[in-house]
Amino acid sequence: MNKVWTKEEVLAIYNRPLMQLVFDAAQQHRVNHNPLEVQVSTLLSIKTGGCPEDCGYCPQAARYHTDIEKNDLMTVPQVKAQALRAKSNGSSRLCMGAAWRNIQNNEEFDQVLEMVKTVNELEMEVCCTLGMMTEDQARRLADAGLYAYNHNLDTSEDHYKEIISTRDFDDRKKTIANASKAGISVCSGGIIGMGESANDRCSMLVTLANLSPQPKSVPINALVPVEGTPLADQQLVSIWDMVRMVATTRIVMPEAVVRLSAGRTQMSDEGQALCFMAGASSIFAGDKLLTTPNPDINNDMKLFDILGISTKAPFVDGEQPTTKESYKECASTRGNVKWDRPGHTIERNEMAKQKAKDLKA
Ligand code: SF4
Repeated sequence: MNKVWTKEEVLAIYNRPLMQLVFDAAQQHRVNHNPLEVQVSTLLSIKTGGCPEDCGYCPQAARYHTDIEKNDLMTVPQVKAQALRAKSNGSSRLCMGAAWRNIQNNEEFDQVLEMVKTVNELEMEVCCTLGMMTEDQARRLADAGLYAYNHNLDTSEDHYKEIISTRDFDDRKKTIANASKAGISVCSGGIIGMGESANDRCSMLVTLANLSPQPKSVPINALVPVEGTPLADQQLVSIWDMVRMVATTRIVMPEAVVRLSAGRTQMSDEGQALCFMAGASSIFAGDKLLTTPNPDINNDMKLFDILGISTKAPFVDGEQPTTKESYKECASTRGNVKWDRPGHTIERNEMAKQKAKDLKA
């Protein structure tokens, strides 16, 4: 059984002198992983924009006025072409993201299931991030060959109420549990730089570390403030906070792949190198991370060369799923799946929504 972490313990780790913290995390990293391998993953937005949620950091929320290009759901051949391109650039994992509140049992979900099957056949780890998900939907995704499901906690339970009002923290945990029950590897992490305290960061890590099983993959994102979103004026997070967060994550979830995710364009090569030293074992490749900028793959490969890092093959941490024809069978009625809305309001989100309305008028 896993150790049960307390917030005090995690905070004490987070607050260790930085050089000590990096050393401790690097030691833990070497026990559980090959420190000279980093997984390259590609995040592909298969349906962009028009999301009904109000996540304060997200340019894809329909209610805010942002400068993103909206796209309907991609076709299976389009996704296959992108997956092959990602694979030829060294990616061993493709994460497909759709700007949905939750999965519906409809033709679009059928199309995503075909995408999962197709990419799995290319011998890449397939991950999806599609919003909230029922047990039956998780089962169908697993049967189609899904390797992992991403559903970030984003922040602590307390701070969550300041960032999102259209669903609550428990909904996140329910979806994560549904993925686990279906035997899907869980990918869940968060974003720092959203006005949270060190307490909040550690509280989020406690929730993740005390999940049973612990997530196999933990993305750590630095907020990329986007004009028009409620968090547009947030200050960029410092590299030292990022290193601290990566190192603490590595120590409390030693077996997880810690993913250096959004915000890498704000980091120097040296800063990223320190994150790898502190236990980051994956990056996202591609010139965009859903809608925000990301370093060029050639720059990433140059940095890997300098550091003596090579790219990690797929399925090192788990077996490739086999596709079962049962992915076509839907147990629940087709159409709308209802998830409650908690319904509190967040002043900053309401102001951004009003500003978007004013600009439209
Ligand atoms: S983070 Fe996801 S759920 Fe939230 S607004 Fe953006 S696309 Fe929608």
